[in-house]
Amino acid sequence: MKRFLVIAIMLTLALFAQADRVKVRLFSNVKLGALSVSFDLGSYNLYADGNQLLEDMAGEGRTVFLKVEGRRLVVSVNQDYYGSFASLHLEATDTACILCINPDGFKPRTYEGDLEVTVGADGKLRLINDVDFETYIAGVVQSEIYGSQTDIFRIQAIISRTWALRNMKKHAVDGYNFCDHVHCQAYLNRCIRPDIMMGAIESSGETLVDADGKLIDTPFHSNSGGQTANSEDVWRAALPYLRSVPDTFSYHMKQSDWTKTVSIDRWLSYFRKSHKIDTDNPDNLRELLHFEQAQRKAKLLGVPLTKIRTDFQLKSTFFSVSVDSTMMTVTLRGHGYGHGVGLSQEGTIRMVGLGFSYDSILRHYYTGAVLHHDPVAKAAFAPAYVAQLARIIEEDSNQQTRTLSKKDDWLGRLFRLRDREVREEIYVEEEQDNEQDWEYEW
Ligand SMILES: [Zn+2]
Repeated sequence: MKRFLVIAIMLTLALFAQADRVKVRLFSNVKLGALSVSFDLGSYNLYADGNQLLEDMAGEGRTVFLKVEGRRLVVSVNQDYYGSFASLHLEATDTACILCINPDGFKPRTYEGDLEVTVGADGKLRLINDVDFETYIAGVVQSEIYGSQTDIFRIQAIISRTWALRNMKKHAVDGYNFCDHVHCQAYLNRCIRPDIMMGAIESSGETLVDADGKLIDTPFHSNSGGQTANSEDVWRAALPYLRSVPDTFSYHMKQSDWTKTVSIDRWLSYFRKSHKIDTDNPDNLRELLHFEQAQRKAKLLGVPLTKIRTDFQLKSTFFSVSVDSTMMTVTLRGHGYGHGVGLSQEGTIRMVGLGFSYDSILRHYYTGAVLHHDPVAKAAFAPAYVAQLARIIEEDSNQQTRTLSKKDDWLGRLFRLRDREVREEIYVEEEQDNEQDWEYEW
């Protein structure tokens, strides 16, 4: 019996095992032929084709220049030419290493962790950031949502972490875990905001699961327009936790409403030619010109609204149609932005502002989902997070974030985090035995 219990516990632990590191393709949606890498913090080892070129390269003042020639990477460091290689690897020597990627023609971005560079099949640079999983999540949160309250970031971190753990093999055939674009999740920089890092810290070890304890799919969108969509009306599968729910919290936000004008000729010929609808039939004509959605619908005369959304590049499928007095154009009046399934980000921002708790907000958008807490994962990641937060605040002392951030909670909570009692909450009991476990430099 005891043995079964042990096996059951091991299976449970395996189910919720968190990823340590991930590989993320950077600048995945642009083509880069040349760039330079400078170093903001820490020291790096530089490898080319597996051989060490430079050891413990103190970053400051050094710049690595890379460009593609043929199928090779031409490498220089400052003024020194090192040759041409198939691959380059910048290895961070400890956790406090930050590098800055400056591509020709694009804004520079900073990242933690390692950087691997090769030449892709398209003859352009292929950049992979090998980074701590939770550092990646904090960068995703900063790239994916706006706001100023910690719970907004905590919620985004939970759904981004759940999505990532469920989709670790998304780009397995390409040799990495995720791209940095919305195809996976946006990851456009390392996290540099203390309030966002604090939200990520508070969420560590938290994921969303179904009644069987399996990680759920956690799609999100900018604004539901007042009602979220059923998963089967947008994709194929009907999932019990992705149900359409009323969402008045998404009203009166940046992306709540939109309009688009289309000529009647184009509108009708689209349905006639692309979908073989008889537009001379008075019933069809009435429906096409006066379509209403007081509640979300899935189709217009049998045509999926998702198809119409793509073909007319509409912000959402939640729209109604009216004819203008000139009888030359139709106006589409729509609500929301995005596919409408799962969590509305602007609805979340509003709910947090109104004082709803982060778990009740998650339950509002993911019907029946359960918030899972993993104290082991929390204990494993809290130290790295706290170190990162300290680094951000140190860097921030002469930058603008400190004054821009609503200093409501992150600074106060950081100070509380520094107190021993609160640290004790972060660590699981067995790890508290060793006093050295929680030695931090502040
Ligand atoms: Zn992707």
